[in-house]
Amino acid sequence: MHLKVMVVEDEEALSELLRYNLEAEGYEVEVVDRGDDAELRLRESIPDLLLLDWMLPGLSGIELCRRARLREETATLPIIMLTARSEESERVRGLSTGADDFVVKPFSVPELMARINAMMRRLKPASVSTKLVIGEIEIDRERHRVYRNDREVRLGPKEYKLLEFFMLAPGRVFSREQLLDGVWGRENYVDERTVDVHVGRLRRSINRGKEKDPIRTVRGSGYSFNDKFA
Ligand code: CA
Repeated sequence: MHLKVMVVEDEEALSELLRYNLEAEGYEVEVVDRGDDAELRLRESIPDLLLLDWMLPGLSGIELCRRARLREETATLPIIMLTARSEESERVRGLSTGADDFVVKPFSVPELMARINAMMRRLKPASVSTKLVIGEIEIDRERHRVYRNDREVRLGPKEYKLLEFFMLAPGRVFSREQLLDGVWGRENYVDERTVDVHVGRLRRSINRGKEKDPIRTVRGSGYSFNDKFA
């Protein structure tokens, strides 16, 4: 049985990015783009976790959260609130909204996934896998360690996130821009060449001698983790 995450977010590009990444983690995902619709939906079906944007049409995330807490059925529902980076987000933290966690936009997707997984693990320890394995490469996501053929591979924080991002979607080709969005966070001011530098470092760390390179450079497009890699 899959754990279910409800994403309430009116920015479609972001909700699709979240859906994609949550599904890759094995969650069942429902996206709702209005606060009032989400309130109605919560009366029909209660997810295992609610990812809630603050600024929403219909009903604000804060108000939705407050109302959810008043209902017995959703009083203890885990809620992560997404807030914009502004003075308002400082203010909203001070309000007693009842959210379990706050994530400030722009955020890095792997970081948000790590927080969601950590929260799910606390709630339902048996249902969240902490290991990601493709062929010879294994990531222990709880301990932030990487192994290739049982040899530990030491990676910098960005290389680690990059590898994790690739391994969550083997075979998919990512543009440099998508990698920047996913690993460095949206609205960053990092040059796309930075991606090449970090992919280079990641390759040097994970490949030794004649070991096969799992990362494919796709000319004119970007990079991909080889899903045939084994
Ligand atoms: Ca919004």
